Amino acid sequence: MNKNQNNSIFSHLYGFTDMKTLNEKGPIILNQGKGIYVFDIYNKKYLDANSGLWNSVAGFDHPGLVETARKQYKKFGGYHSFFGRLSEETLKLSEKIISISPFKSGKVFFTNSGSEANDTAIKILWMLNNRRGKPNKRKIITRINAYHGVTLGASSMTGKPYIKEFGMPLNEFIHADCPHYWKFGLKEEKEEDFSKRMGKNLEELIIKETPETIAGFFAEPVQGAGGVIPPSKGYFDVIQPILKKYKIPFVADEVITGLGRTGNLWGTETFNLKPDIIISSKALTAGFFPMAAVILNQDIADEFIKVSEQAEEFPHGFTGGGHPVGCAIALKAIDVIMNEGLLDNVKEVSPYFLKRLKEFESYEHIGETRGIGLMAALEMVKNKELKTPFDSHLSMGDKVANESINNGLICRPLGPAIVLCPQFIITKKEIDLMFDMLHDTLKKIFKKN
Ligand SMILES: *Cc1c(COP(=O)(O)O)cnc(C)c1O
Repeated sequence: MNKNQNNSIFSHLYGFTDMKTLNEKGPIILNQGKGIYVFDIYNKKYLDANSGLWNSVAGFDHPGLVETARKQYKKFGGYHSFFGRLSEETLKLSEKIISISPFKSGKVFFTNSGSEANDTAIKILWMLNNRRGKPNKRKIITRINAYHGVTLGASSMTGKPYIKEFGMPLNEFIHADCPHYWKFGLKEEKEEDFSKRMGKNLEELIIKETPETIAGFFAEPVQGAGGVIPPSKGYFDVIQPILKKYKIPFVADEVITGLGRTGNLWGTETFNLKPDIIISSKALTAGFFPMAAVILNQDIADEFIKVSEQAEEFPHGFTGGGHPVGCAIALKAIDVIMNEGLLDNVKEVSPYFLKRLKEFESYEHIGETRGIGLMAALEMVKNKELKTPFDSHLSMGDKVANESINNGLICRPLGPAIVLCPQFIITKKEIDLMFDMLHDTLKKIFKKN
């Protein structure tokens, strides 16, 4: 659709959208989803290889989730959870999340988004330290290429160059190394040695900043929007003892990895992590409601309750946080993932998914393929030997996005990486279809270059 045909498309302000392509082609307007497919207003069908934004994992039209939402709206269509009042479903979901979390016990706080959940975790740490008489223990360490969201805290935690547009990061937010061995490993450096170097650099950073001023370390088990970067071998085994040594709480941002994406219910299991706080969102409602959860383990929860009592309250909350419809949907989504075979399917099909991914390593312009569970990326390079990126990976990524859209495949280039993260319900046949379409797309593009 071009802008002369329909001016109404310009009443929307488009975030994370290439303005040049938008102005030339207009948006793709969708009005239906079925299984792993979405349909535009001209009834063109697309295989969405990105599960929406990682979140729609059970099919865009899962009947059980639709029915749950309908029933809950009829029963109790909305309430907050301030002042000690909350819906029955909110409590039920808290209990459920603790019971399936890696923590033996703990507490849950609900927000509307992953960004707000990260900001909430920061405020919990800051309030704790303030009440402990350590008001200067406020610095937050994250990593280059991290994505933690877009609110002021979460945006400052995000390790992408574009945050400079906003004059960020804010003070007290520090970015450590990205554990991407293929990209940042030195010549002849073994992967384990690379991980050790990551640890050494982190320890030096902590000492330089002075450990007493650091409130927390936040990390995604697998960096997602940074371009699907699984940690280098042994990375977290090196990092965690260092955090412990300097008494720095570890927050696992499992917004993407939580609830099955890596092949286990939690990325924490996949990488043997021992976090103090876990953030869960995206798959939590299978894309049917905006919601996230901050999950505190018992130790940090106990201490936080004490300081909240001293302060009379935890002065924080979102009007829509713990919404009964969202909570009912999340309860159903967890049930669907765990008991309707979705998690089993991730385990079942992911080896095949990762095997077909490897085919692309024979391409002259694919430098690396990488992935775990049902999340993967192909990194485009101009020169494979030297691992040099294309001059403008934005325009290269855009070429891929546009060509694949024409072919009926939605896959998202993130910088130089093409990301694939299909729904948990995807079949082997659909995996074949997805990769065949991607082959067609890339063959066309690289021939043109
Ligand atoms: C998407 C994402 C967020 C932000 O979630 P929103 O709901 O978009 O605010 C935070 N952390 C990670 C790891 C994410 O992938």
